[in-house]
Amino acid sequence: MNNFHQEITTQIKKYCQNTIEPHIETDDEQSIFKKEIYQGLGELGLAGLTIDEAYGGANLDYQSFCPVLATIAQYSVSYAVTLSVSVMAQSIIESFGNDEQKKTYLPELTSGKEIAAFALSESHSGSDAAALKTTAKKTDKGYILNGSKMWITSGGVAKTYIVMARTGEDGAKGISAFIVQDGTPGFSYGKKEKKMGWKVSPTRELIFENCLIPKENILAEEGKGFKIALDALNRGRVTIGAVALGLSDRALEVAVKYALDRKQFEQPIYDFQGLQFMIADCATEIEASRYLVNQAAINFDAGKIDRKLAAMAKLKATDTAMKVTTDAVQILGGVGYTSEYPTERFMRDAKVLQIVEGTNQIQKVIIGREIKKQYS
Ligand SMILES: Cc1cc2nc3c(=O)[nH]c(=O)nc-3n(C[C@H](O)[C@H](O)[C@H](O)COP(=O)(O)OP(=O)(O)OC[C@H]3O[C@@H](n4cnc5c(N)ncnc54)[C@H](O)[C@@H]3O)c2cc1C
Repeated sequence: MNNFHQEITTQIKKYCQNTIEPHIETDDEQSIFKKEIYQGLGELGLAGLTIDEAYGGANLDYQSFCPVLATIAQYSVSYAVTLSVSVMAQSIIESFGNDEQKKTYLPELTSGKEIAAFALSESHSGSDAAALKTTAKKTDKGYILNGSKMWITSGGVAKTYIVMARTGEDGAKGISAFIVQDGTPGFSYGKKEKKMGWKVSPTRELIFENCLIPKENILAEEGKGFKIALDALNRGRVTIGAVALGLSDRALEVAVKYALDRKQFEQPIYDFQGLQFMIADCATEIEASRYLVNQAAINFDAGKIDRKLAAMAKLKATDTAMKVTTDAVQILGGVGYTSEYPTERFMRDAKVLQIVEGTNQIQKVIIGREIKKQYS
């Protein structure tokens, strides 16, 4: 970690300790998202960290963004994923948008005033995303969207949505990407999902009923939508890995401190070898994840599109988060399972990391495919 990383980490910790930590258990229980907390992260300069300064971003790399996400995730995975997804959507506009689109949409997102979301999944097409059915029909007045998107992170609180819809043939080549703004007639929200974890982060269905959007809102050109989505997911996998790392670090910290303090059989439970082995395994898995996430970020910053490594980083870091948070509950025993300690929340928040941005089975599909290419 360089001086910049250390300084920003200290600032984020202070901010999260003052704003998120005191209310996180009640906000989690009541599923309350506070936009002002996100906006505060924006005021720290974090909401458009990797985006060009010309559009209000900080022009930093993924090696800087990952530790930022990991630090926020130590306090709230929900706010960390809100940021991760918003920056992913901004990166799409930055990479595939034209000048006008970048000038119109990016500044209020990089400042953190507004949030962006990424809408690919549909009820019948999650892993098989290229089977999506939402349509965008070209007319003289613009594109007319019909269909719905499921499980959209920041649905209802975001202003700008990157929506993948079908403009042509079946399969990946018939998909295009559009920018859709909250408040567009014909665009509404379905129910807010009741979830096991990520309770502070709203997840909603997006509904499009004859929703007319200007033809200028297409990103790149017709048929490029699936490529745009995959490019974004390659970034998203690295950043979800970073979120998982932050969560694992915090869960282990809570477990170790508790184990050093808690006595049974007249000795700290930490001194039982059975627990030390669990802790040693967790710490080792976390370090292995850290190396993978860091290397994936380094490759990304160097412009190397390494799908295999990005998938490995996501797979390893999120499986590790699941293991470490589960073991943290175990190490705390009864209180670990109650909301007196945050470990039960950590465990609930870890689970969905194995599902989003491509399930961990899909990461293995990608890794397997890349290995086959390497040897064929
Ligand atoms: C809290 C939350 C937030 C989300 N946020 C977003 C968002 O912001 N934007 C968005 O577009 N989507 C979002 N999603 C959707 C998420 O990306 C999908 O849930 C995910 O891609 C899996 O799709 P599915 O749920 O349809 O499961 P399915 O694809 O039906 O998979 C079910 C099971 O089958 C397995 N499976 C499927 N295909 C294969 C295969 N080829 N090989 C082996 N196993 C396979 C899966 O791994 C899984 O275990 C979110 C989901 C949740 C729960």
